[in-house]
Amino acid sequence: MKNIFSVPFHDLETYFIDNGDKAFRATQVYDFLYKKRIFDLDKMTNIPNNTKEKMREDFDFSFIKIIKKQEDTDVKKYLFELTDGNRIESVLMYHDYGISICVSSQVGCNMGCRFCESGRLKKVRNLEPYEIVEQLLLIEKDLGIRITHVVVMGIGEPFDNYDNVIDFTKIITSNKGIDLGIRHITISTCGIVPKIYEFTEDLKGVNLAISLHAPNDTIRNKIMPISLAYKLDDLMTAIKHYIKVTNRRVTFEYVMLSGINDSKACALELAKLLKGLNCYVNLIPYNETENIEFTRSKKVQILAFYDILKKNGIEVTIRREFGGKVDAACGQLRAKSY
Ligand code: SAH
Repeated sequence: MKNIFSVPFHDLETYFIDNGDKAFRATQVYDFLYKKRIFDLDKMTNIPNNTKEKMREDFDFSFIKIIKKQEDTDVKKYLFELTDGNRIESVLMYHDYGISICVSSQVGCNMGCRFCESGRLKKVRNLEPYEIVEQLLLIEKDLGIRITHVVVMGIGEPFDNYDNVIDFTKIITSNKGIDLGIRHITISTCGIVPKIYEFTEDLKGVNLAISLHAPNDTIRNKIMPISLAYKLDDLMTAIKHYIKVTNRRVTFEYVMLSGINDSKACALELAKLLKGLNCYVNLIPYNETENIEFTRSKKVQILAFYDILKKNGIEVTIRREFGGKVDAACGQLRAKSY
């Protein structure tokens, strides 16, 4: 039985038509679920009883559960338990431009980036679309807010769960429902090249972020095993194709690891690699975690790196830090909270 929050609007229309019902039932159901936030079929007043009975047979209306919430200024971290007992986390952040949520897309992660806490638990399974949608619905309900921006940068590699992440995106952007602006969604990948080509065709307005973290294969191979499967050259070709087709700016994430990828030579090499591309670089001060030996680059090193990129005409920002105190920062999310 499919969970109702996994069903994109057009699939729900097709469902009603296939069942000899009216297509506009999909509009009514989406309106209750996502606009009125009424999740109980009994309370969906203008839907006929026979339609409701059929829907009860065909759809599951269950929710994942919030089991813990940790708060810091401008950031809240939620631990969720899924119906099979697996756990994931999401992070909510308040910005001057709105409120964003960082959602998880898998239980665990198989990418094995050496510096990342999330990947210490191998992938257990992909999240279904509803399990991603409900992270958003439950946090909005808990805080009585509306989220304006979504980043798929929590636990998991979204392009290793491509179809479900695409359905999630369709569901939250449907103008029959949550109606989030497609440009307010960012999907971050460690660089699964074939999926970048698919994404280019499928979701033209969604922002693409690439976890680059090194200006060459030698360093990248050492810290990101995915780099052994897809060379930097091929990754850059896919990104250039994406920019050409979509005319959208790409974000490169670059986590600053002391003594690994933060030298002036690296900055120059990175500037050369990205010269002329419609992109910007987001330097991420590394968040240290107790189980991993990497350390954060010194502030002067990060600033020097920043200056070199700037001087060479590359747009660059240093990521504002959120969530360190509650272990909610990038790379600190994990499947189990102790
Ligand atoms: N799998 C996706 C999305 C999840 S990670 C991806 O790789 O893009 C979100 C970002 O946080 C990635 O850029 C990741 O490399 C970075 N990150 C991982 N561990 C980190 C840490 N300890 N400190 C700072 N950033 C980290």
